[in-house]
This record gives sequence, structure tokens and C-alpha cells, in this order.
Amino acid sequence: MQGYCVKCRAKKEMKDPQSITMKNKMPATQGVCPTCGSKMFRIGITPIIELASSQIPRLAPQPPVPRLAP
Ligand SMILES: [Zn+2]
Repeated sequence: MQGYCVKCRAKKEMKDPQSITMKNKMPATQGVCPTCGSKMFRIGITPIIELASSQIPRLAPQPPVPRLAP
């Protein structure tokens, strides 16, 4: 996962990339710069997010609650 480090002003391979959701509900990836150790962000849907979301079991629609017979 590549990210842009503002400190190094260069693209770096993110260390410990984690999928996060920003305040505005935008998906993003947060990682650590392997060179200077500062936090890096990459905005948008990334392969790691797709991987993470695919591991979340989809909630099946709830079956209608059977009515109790009077
Ligand atoms: Zn850096």
C-alpha cells in the first residue's frame, strides 16, 4: 500500500496500513511512514479496505416475525 508522506514529500510504502473511516464518512487508509515514522493517509477505497469489508459478514435480512396465533 503506497501513501504520500508529507514530511518526506515522497511516496512511500505504508507501514501498518489500516482502513479507517474519516469524520465525513469517507473511507481512507492510515499508515506509518517507514522512513520518518509519521502518519500517512491515503483517501479513498483501497484494496485493504475492500479486503477488510469482505471479511465482515453481511447481515442477512431479518425474517418476518411470525405472528402469534390468537
Ligand atoms: Zn516520511
